[in-house]
Amino acid sequence: MPTHLTLHDTLTRTDREVTPLDGQTLRFYCCGPTVYGPAHIGNFRTFVSQDVMRRVVEASGTPTLHVRNITDVDDKTIRDSQKAGQSLTDFTRGWTQKFHADCDALNLLRPHIEPSAVAHISQQITMIEKLIANGHAYAAADGSVYFRVSSFKDYGKLSHLEDRELRLGASEAASATDSDEYTKDSLTDFALWKARKPEDGANFWPSPWGEGRPGWHLECSAMILEYLGEDFDLHSGGVDLIFPHHENEIAQSCCSTHGHFAHHWMHVAHLMVDGGKMSKSLGNLYTLEDLAQRGYSAVEVRYVLIYGHYRAPLNFTMHSLDSARQALQKLAKVDKALAASSPSLQISESPGLFQDAWETLLKDLNVPGALGSIFGTLNKLKPAALSPEEAAATRNGLHFMLQALGIILPPVAEESTAEVPADIQALAQQRWDAKQAKDWATADTLRKQLEAAGWLIKDSKEGFTIVAK
Ligand code: AMP
Ligand code: ZN
Repeated sequence: MPTHLTLHDTLTRTDREVTPLDGQTLRFYCCGPTVYGPAHIGNFRTFVSQDVMRRVVEASGTPTLHVRNITDVDDKTIRDSQKAGQSLTDFTRGWTQKFHADCDALNLLRPHIEPSAVAHISQQITMIEKLIANGHAYAAADGSVYFRVSSFKDYGKLSHLEDRELRLGASEAASATDSDEYTKDSLTDFALWKARKPEDGANFWPSPWGEGRPGWHLECSAMILEYLGEDFDLHSGGVDLIFPHHENEIAQSCCSTHGHFAHHWMHVAHLMVDGGKMSKSLGNLYTLEDLAQRGYSAVEVRYVLIYGHYRAPLNFTMHSLDSARQALQKLAKVDKALAASSPSLQISESPGLFQDAWETLLKDLNVPGALGSIFGTLNKLKPAALSPEEAAATRNGLHFMLQALGIILPPVAEESTAEVPADIQALAQQRWDAKQAKDWATADTLRKQLEAAGWLIKDSKEGFTIVAK
């Protein structure tokens, strides 16, 4: 009987048990958001999958140390802060707050440490100095510093890149590069430090190589060393980060320390929309706010994002949100029926009746399989026929699973709620979420908005009902 999570490892291409190196705490790192606009639901697919991974590890009895960075300096943040006429700090602070609010709405556990690139410039400079001293990096005439890819024989091991593909990648990079500014020894070499350019505005820092700013790949290596050390348990991000970002992180870290860096690599496949790639130009790049305007809550979005195996691309449609709403209502109704005979909830330390679902989840985080198993068990259940003890045990087991999946049950929709328009339902749900998050100001504003639209909200301990004024 499995008791611990087994997860596919991108590096070894095998499924391996996730166990802490120190025998106590699972220490893991996730590449975080670039804060220059609202995160889209594709980004959130990755963050939600990482959240489920953490919850499952914790539910199986292992504490975690979760580090996720904030990228608050790069080409995009600098460019868009200037467009907005704000300082980089003010601009990225605003988007970081928005990101946090979205994460809370999606019921993502907050990382224990959330370091930012700008707050760790000195650590990044120290790492570059080590790389230069070890012969893995060199300063170019313009004051930029590059990592010499040919100096690291393991380069490409994570993405299983052959030399041919590396060269191919390099020729693409070359065609995208302005040859006048090209100062690297080799096309595959990547920037550790970027010399100050006029378009950087006020965003530069002093360094032994002149004023400039760190290259994007470096911040993760430097912050991992600071908070997790030379060896740590697991590293994660979306599949697009395998190459070059994670490959470059490995190169920077392994060439500046004596450690092995991450011992396990988890990558989340992309979210597609209506069968294709998400893109701004196609108008299908959704944020939580876009979906709220269409009447869907963050809890429903979370359900859609987990209802697909994290290693397979997931196709997002509006219909999938309707299905999520139905599934959540079904869970909420069973829970309410069980609560009728067993009102006091004690989240147990075992899945009880849902052992099969739990074991399915432990096998490479098979969320769709686990949900299928949960519904299979619930379909056979007759809550009214259960003794109070049986109802309590079933409910506790169900909540063990819901907690592991991070699912918050919505209030059971009253019959009259069916006539409430979807946008009003969504606003009411947002208000409830804000209230749960103790964001009283937002909750108040939303209540007033609902009242102005002709709807009153009645709260109870379990949830809310919406009635026409
Ligand atoms: P970014 O803010 O661009 O640095 O991305 C944050 C995270 O979202 C990274 O782990 C990316 O790999 C991930 N990501 C970006 N696009 C998608 C997508 N369409 N589906 C899933 N994850 C994505
Ligand atoms: Zn990273």
